[in-house]
Amino acid sequence: MTTATKKIQMVDLKGQYLKIKTEVDAAIASVIDNTAFINGPAVKEFQADMEKYLKVKHVIPCANGTDALQIAMMALGLKPGDEVITADFTYVATAEVIGLLGLKPVLVDVYPDTFDINVEAIEKAITPKTKAIVPVHLFGQCADMERIMAVAKKHNLFVIEDVAQAIGADYTFSDGKKVKAGTIGTIGCTSFFPSKNLGCYGDGGAMYTNDDTLAAKMKMISHHGQSVQYVHDVLGVNSRLDTIQAAILKIKLQHLDEYAAARNKVADHYDKAFANHPKLKTPKRVKNSTHVFHQYTLQLNGVDRTALREFLASKNIPAMIYYPIPLHLQKAYKDDRYKEGAFPVTEKLCASVVSLPMHTELDEETLKFIADSVLEFCK
Ligand SMILES: *Cc1c(COP(=O)(O)O)cnc(C)c1O
Repeated sequence: MTTATKKIQMVDLKGQYLKIKTEVDAAIASVIDNTAFINGPAVKEFQADMEKYLKVKHVIPCANGTDALQIAMMALGLKPGDEVITADFTYVATAEVIGLLGLKPVLVDVYPDTFDINVEAIEKAITPKTKAIVPVHLFGQCADMERIMAVAKKHNLFVIEDVAQAIGADYTFSDGKKVKAGTIGTIGCTSFFPSKNLGCYGDGGAMYTNDDTLAAKMKMISHHGQSVQYVHDVLGVNSRLDTIQAAILKIKLQHLDEYAAARNKVADHYDKAFANHPKLKTPKRVKNSTHVFHQYTLQLNGVDRTALREFLASKNIPAMIYYPIPLHLQKAYKDDRYKEGAFPVTEKLCASVVSLPMHTELDEETLKFIADSVLEFCK
């Protein structure tokens, strides 16, 4: 097939599966054979592998990334009315659980070059009611954790890292200490949604922490608040990672660093193609975090985004907008505190970003075709 006729996808889950098909099929068959569908051995094995990979004391698997955030906030004992600061430019799940628990989401703007939460804005948003900060490592690169942790320490706040898009990224502190994204704050929350960097074949998620007490609490909450069978100490939920998903993730975790390297190769190709282009701003890479490129997101300057997407679509190149509407302008999150213009950076980003195909199976020829097509339109 030539590039022009090959189906280009935002994410190629099939291509990735085919490379590990034998192993994955055998793992799935084995779970079915044992019928240990709930809390089977693969769940514990994957959990242990993740703890080792992340160098964190506890990984608690759960049903999805949204649940992970919710369980984390429940375990921290946050009470209705408590304020939780998070970024306006993120996937909705982050703010959703804050609202669901009766907590008050306090949105703040992001930095225009990294898309990550603005630390000065966090400090300004802190009140006596503030209990937690939820930085989102958007698109695969860590937020400014060193400064966020300093602010949290100063004001005695919890930090819940939303690491759904940055699993595997490394963060280096100014003293040289290097850790995995999600193991810096009080709790890290991730998602194994199929299109995430470590995706399963359905829904899945996990919390990470180095705190023994919190780990025990999160485990209990995710299991109906149960301490011993049929003894319920706290209000909980039912949120488990299926054994089949754990078996798949166990295999895919072994390839995660390889996947990150493949994604970086794609990003390097795009970076080079669009370097110094007056109408295209490539994503900034910061010094203290590696980037695992969940998304490769360009900012357009003086380019008709709709027309660009139509032009690319005519060449069978998908391009997506993450995210088209800021949280503060969503009906569900409408609040008198936030009018249009409240968060100018997020509003500008929502109007100007476009994400290009980014996955582990893109070859040079396809990348060149995508980049050339973008450049052709943005002449
Ligand atoms: C995907 C995602 C989530 C939610 O994960 P699910 O597994 O889909 O519930 C939360 N936050 C961010 C930033 C995400 O990208």
